[in-house]
Amino acid sequence: MARRRNIAARSDVSPPQGPVRTCIGCRKQASKRELLRVTAGSDATTGLPVVRPDPDGTAPGRGAHLHPTSECYDLAVRRKAFARALRVGAGPSSAPVGDYVAAARTTDQTDRNWSTRS
Ligand SMILES: [Zn+2]
Repeated sequence: MARRRNIAARSDVSPPQGPVRTCIGCRKQASKRELLRVTAGSDATTGLPVVRPDPDGTAPGRGAHLHPTSECYDLAVRRKAFARALRVGAGPSSAPVGDYVAAARTTDQTDRNWSTRS
């Protein structure tokens, strides 16, 4: 009992697997695969800064991550987190991300209906 080996490098709390990112909405850390990557770009027609969803995580440039939920999206919008995280000066339009989140939720429900049907 007197001598305890100090193996403090490893904590008992099991870390999430894979890379971890912070959600720009709720500011919680989560596994990268749970989060939706978004990137900054400019709208093809207006040239204004716009935030786009990048579900594959392949788009070049600076990205930010958030949970693909309307809650975290709303939080990110309210905190102007997109502009801050993506380092775009003027408030970018994040409508494409909002659409994606809304669509993802609908798709999820559709999937569930499909699996019960078969
Ligand atoms: Zn979140």
